[in-house]
Order: sequence, then C-alpha cells, then structure tokens
Amino acid sequence: MDKDDALRCSFCGRDEDEVAFLLAGGAQSVYICGDCVDMCVDIIKREKLSGHVPHTSH
Ligand SMILES: [Zn+2]
Repeated sequence: MDKDDALRCSFCGRDEDEVAFLLAGGAQSVYICGDCVDMCVDIIKREKLSGHVPHTSH
C-alpha cells in the first residue's frame, strides 16, 4: 500500500514535490504552498483596495 506521508498543501492538495515550497501552519499537518500564498496575497490586496476586509474582529 502507498502510505501517504508526504507533506501536502491543505488548500490545493498538492504535495511538496509538486510545488515550489510549503509553509507550515500554526497547527501541525497544516501547510500552504507558494501558489496558494500568492493567491491569498492577491485576494487580500484586492479586498483591502475594495475596502472589504474579511473576518473583521468585533
Ligand atoms: Zn496550495
């Protein structure tokens, strides 16, 4: 059986061999790859520009 112990992006599901790099999240076994980081940065920039900030803390 193929034991799946490769590190994997929690967002797009690709493993570390398929992406430029993986960043570990605060919790163990949570990772995000470079592509998803780029995507998130892009979204955050757009949200800030449009004046909508997601998850505002009240
Ligand atoms: Zn990813």
